[in-house]
Amino acid sequence: MSTETDFLIVGGGVAGVSAAARLAPLGRVILLEAEQALAYHASGRSAAMFLESYGNATVRALNSASLAHHAEADGGVLTPRPMMLIGRPVEEEAFARECADFSMREIGLDEARAVLPILNPATVSRAALREDTSDLDTDLLIQNFARAARGAGAGLRLNARVTGITREGSGWRVEAGAESLRAGVLVNAAGAWADGIARMAGVRPLGITPYRRSMARLPAPGGHDTRDWPFVDAVGERWYAKPDAGKLIVSPSEEDAQEAHDVWADDMVLAEGLARYEEMVTEPVTRVEHSWAGLRSFAPDRALVIGRDPAAPGFAWLAGQGGYGFQTAPAASRLLADLLSGRPPELPGAVVEALSPARFR
Ligand SMILES: Cc1cc2nc3c(=O)[nH]c(=O)nc-3n(C[C@H](O)[C@H](O)[C@H](O)COP(=O)(O)OP(=O)(O)OC[C@H]3O[C@@H](n4cnc5c(N)ncnc54)[C@H](O)[C@@H]3O)c2cc1C
Repeated sequence: MSTETDFLIVGGGVAGVSAAARLAPLGRVILLEAEQALAYHASGRSAAMFLESYGNATVRALNSASLAHHAEADGGVLTPRPMMLIGRPVEEEAFARECADFSMREIGLDEARAVLPILNPATVSRAALREDTSDLDTDLLIQNFARAARGAGAGLRLNARVTGITREGSGWRVEAGAESLRAGVLVNAAGAWADGIARMAGVRPLGITPYRRSMARLPAPGGHDTRDWPFVDAVGERWYAKPDAGKLIVSPSEEDAQEAHDVWADDMVLAEGLARYEEMVTEPVTRVEHSWAGLRSFAPDRALVIGRDPAAPGFAWLAGQGGYGFQTAPAASRLLADLLSGRPPELPGAVVEALSPARFR
């Protein structure tokens, strides 16, 4: 069976599904996802936060350009959750730096303990708060993009692992299971597998590296009602935590380079991270109810890679989402559609350049 399409997207995470929604009004779109569900890999394993000041300047430009969509489109996906930064006496300088970098307001420890009652005043010396950060409903965002994509005629195929890509004229021939497809433009939205997809197509990889990040779900510490607790970040990202369905999720914030695979939490890394968390709170960790990990995949300069590869006409990248794939998705997918359709991008030229794959060529 052979199918013709204009845009063929590899990957059914937030990158691929948002791209499908943006490209479907511009032409025929087919998305191929290897797993039996969308958002099975990184996109099903995130901390689900929107932090406008998280990431380098290029990432922040995408965050800011995505805010209105997150707040308003389809009724919005954001729920306010303040962010708290906490530091120990040995971290005074780093605390001041991060406090400024995240535009946070320093607060006294009494105020901090009123918001987060498990804070340990014997080990935590500084705290800061920012109120305009949010939880991001990641499932809803993906459903909204998937609905928009299907509504505009896109085909989202599951259990469709791409196993072969060859150039055919100005486009591509792609093998996925029993199906053979021909596409004018191939969009590489394969997350941790992005460089592998490029190699399969005979395109030079960009050095996109997947890094594992683990997560543990704990029972509500000390039986507290965690619902209104902030997202808590320990200086230097030594760990972070946030409430999740009446419990608390804690991440050791590790960045361990990995081959692309279905990753799981590393017990030793989790134990060390939970010890760092325990040092700064008054309630011990009694039990880990569940743990998981995902791969955050970064380009060498830690900005996303969006647009056509200058060396391969018809091969477009939407990759290197790192730890920002959800918060940047509306603007990133919009930019991809602008570039592929020849519309002038809404983002400033310098940002578009800083995101272009041409910066590595
Ligand atoms: C612990 C953790 C916390 C995070 N917290 C946040 C947060 O708070 N906010 C935020 O914005 N981001 C966060 N992130 C980052 C975010 O989850 C990622 O940036 C985002 O999910 C990446 O999406 P993606 O679509 O690029 O990759 P993925 O979701 O991994 O999707 C890529 C897809 O490509 C498919 N694929 C690969 N090869 C093939 C093939 N040959 N054929 C067909 N399909 C293929 C895979 O099966 C996969 O489903 C976090 C990540 C982690 C791990």
